Amino acid sequence: MVEALIELKQQAQTAGWLAQTEDFNVDPWSDVHGLYHGKADLLLSPDSTEAVASIMRYCHEQQIKVVVQGGNTGYCGGATPMPENSPQVLLSLRRLNQIRSIDLINQSITVEAGCSLKQIQDYVNTKNRWFPLGLSVADRCLIGGNLATNAGGVNVLRYGNTRDLVLGLEVVLADGEIYQGLQRLRKNNSGYDLKNLFIGSEGTLGVITAAVLKLYPGIQSRALALIGFSNFSKALSLLGHLRQHYQEHLSAFEYWQGNCFEQVTDSFAEINNPFSDAYPHYVLIELSSHRQQDLESLLKKALNAGDWETHISQDPETIQQWWQIRAHLPKAQQQVWSHINSGYKHDISLPLDNIASFLDQSAARLHAYLPDLEIAVFGHLGDGNLHYNVGTKGACLENSAVARVQDIVYEQVKALGGSFSAEHGIGQSKRHLLQQYADPCALSLMRQLKNSLDPHNLLNPSKVL
Ligand SMILES: Cc1cc2nc3c(=O)[nH]c(=O)nc-3n(C[C@H](O)[C@H](O)[C@H](O)COP(=O)(O)OP(=O)(O)OC[C@H]3O[C@@H](n4cnc5c(N)ncnc54)[C@H](O)[C@@H]3O)c2cc1C
Repeated sequence: MVEALIELKQQAQTAGWLAQTEDFNVDPWSDVHGLYHGKADLLLSPDSTEAVASIMRYCHEQQIKVVVQGGNTGYCGGATPMPENSPQVLLSLRRLNQIRSIDLINQSITVEAGCSLKQIQDYVNTKNRWFPLGLSVADRCLIGGNLATNAGGVNVLRYGNTRDLVLGLEVVLADGEIYQGLQRLRKNNSGYDLKNLFIGSEGTLGVITAAVLKLYPGIQSRALALIGFSNFSKALSLLGHLRQHYQEHLSAFEYWQGNCFEQVTDSFAEINNPFSDAYPHYVLIELSSHRQQDLESLLKKALNAGDWETHISQDPETIQQWWQIRAHLPKAQQQVWSHINSGYKHDISLPLDNIASFLDQSAARLHAYLPDLEIAVFGHLGDGNLHYNVGTKGACLENSAVARVQDIVYEQVKALGGSFSAEHGIGQSKRHLLQQYADPCALSLMRQLKNSLDPHNLLNPSKVL
């Protein structure tokens, strides 16, 4: 170990920031899918912003690289250090986990980056408030990681992505300076909006240490509809209708194809399937309100005239069961296609009016390439975000075939004005795609930003760019 690392280790030991692998519930050296494995020279877990700043100052002086880690649930290997980047430290923010304050009049809360999403949700519930970021991994991911990946989730349709839920940020920069942007302001046009540089930057521009988040009144009523469609365009028309007439209440519009539903019902006997028939397309619609309201009747009125099979409920237990169908889609796919990995999964977004063409054209091109491919799609349709997953019944494909499948999907996405990464980011797994598909001017601006904020490339090297 180089001298500077030995000294940092001693300082960290004295200050109580030195961590061991055994302190972690999940292996900090691998990603959530076990696809990426890494190593750093030191594992540090500071418990204050000042401590993070002190570590960053030292690493800057000594040119030690720093990979920030939150809950380590990210899908793109962004929080896994790459061994070739030594000397480097893995900086876990899990001990920086205090709720600093809540402002009930302004409807905002100030939290440290190491608070889990669930911790924040539970705390604000006790104050009859609601934080709308909806991720099934809430108990494991940390808010700093949600901010650094600009996570989406199931409520984007009404409340936006994580970016839209933030009023202010505190960030430790690559040289250890602290950017104090923890404003609780709803209006602030005093120069560039710096917080938005760091949101979604995946640990490459700064270490987010705290944030001011927007809150909403607690949800008082909720109703769900599950609908089976024979035709995809009917689902889209229904989305348009609900947006126009029920936007105030529409909080989720999730989609899955018939074969995804079969994967769930085949894999999990406990799943309650209310449908009398099988359909090629399904949606789950949620209406919710911050007041006591009869949303079941509203949903009935909104959906009655349709040519589809509908089930509606506002019973909390049924609502929970139906949401379980959605939550089980990725798990079921993993069981049925146990050999597939993230190479077969495409987290894409498209303009809504191009989705039907995308589904038709991509399937035609993929089947022309390999007739046995199976395609199973689900996603946050209200946001134009699809998880476009491709599998095979038999053994896994050769690497060259996986690459060809990806090319076909991403070429089609690009041709129809979409994005190759809707909500999971770039990390290490999609760097080559950013080079391939990003607008050259956008790429050049990103490099200039990285150079000006982190000229020695110390923060999360070999990720994103
Ligand atoms: C089961 C499951 C379901 C999911 N569903 C969804 C979904 O519906 N929608 C969606 O958008 N996402 C979804 N995700 C992805 C999820 O949004 C991310 O896993 C999560 O936001 C990352 O948080 P984390 O604390 O685990 O971050 P990590 O995985 O630890 O880190 C992610 C990236 O952020 C960086 N980072 C972490 N903390 C900081 C910080 N404080 N400052 C600067 N950089 C930092 C890391 O370096 C890394 O690049 C899902 C993930 C799982 C496992």
